Amino acid sequence: MLSGKTALITGASRGIGKGIAELFAANHCNIAFTFASSVEKARAFEQELTQKYGVKAKGYQSDAADFKASEALAESVIAEFGKVDILINNAGITRDALMLRMTEEQWDEVIRTNLKSAFNITKAFLKHFLGNRAGSIINMTSVVGVQGNAGQANYAASKAGMIGFTKSMAKEIGSRGIRCNAVAPGFIETEMTESLSDEVKQGWMADIPLKRGGSTTDVANACLFLASDMGAYITGQTLSVCGGMLI
Ligand code: NAP
Repeated sequence: MLSGKTALITGASRGIGKGIAELFAANHCNIAFTFASSVEKARAFEQELTQKYGVKAKGYQSDAADFKASEALAESVIAEFGKVDILINNAGITRDALMLRMTEEQWDEVIRTNLKSAFNITKAFLKHFLGNRAGSIINMTSVVGVQGNAGQANYAASKAGMIGFTKSMAKEIGSRGIRCNAVAPGFIETEMTESLSDEVKQGWMADIPLKRGGSTTDVANACLFLASDMGAYITGQTLSVCGGMLI
């Protein structure tokens, strides 16, 4: 479905980003991806993608929260791959605390890594997309950005911000043939959710109509749909992949 395309996926050394990279590579998409600190995992993943799927793959250690680093990343990726067709703003973190205990650092770190990163990376690649008069941008938000969550005011604000950003970008660049959508995962089994207690996990599961956590492939399938021509007439939307948590 993505033959001849190149995708840049932020935060793909593990978790959801990794699942997206694997599915896209299996659909013949060349993969540029970023990570924060997992150098060994990223190198092994590059090799795995190249050997298993025969695509070009390269990992870049680049802090998505850093504006200048994002500009340098875009230059390197475009020089190495020639072009980028799909951009997935996936890198994200949590620093959970109830508001009374939340520190300024916890607030700033989450807003910078989850929300400012989407601005940094999108801006860095935008001229390239405008020049191509084509492109698909996908922002990884969360059901928490839509419905809020106690103990996650910073995370919810960052993810709600991404939805507003997505809608604005869709209006701004639709006429140039560039689409921008958001994907809102619910409870997905990755390292981000691994640290939650069994009690908390069971509480989440009980509220999910499909009665299971999602897999990274569940989220990747939605991204494949939106990134490919299957989603050609879809922009400015938020697609929930949450087993029915948001109805
Ligand atoms: P994860 O397993 O913790 O993986 C996070 C990825 O982001 C890693 O590759 C990490 O790189 C990278 N990263 C972190 N900070 C970065 C930075 N400043 N610059 C570049 N890369 C950075 O997380 P996940 O569960 O896959 O979540 C991926 C996205 O989905 C996030 O935006 C998250 O908010 C969203 N989401 C997740 C869930 C869920 O249930 N898991 C639900 C809704 C939304 P390193 O390996 O180098 O640290």
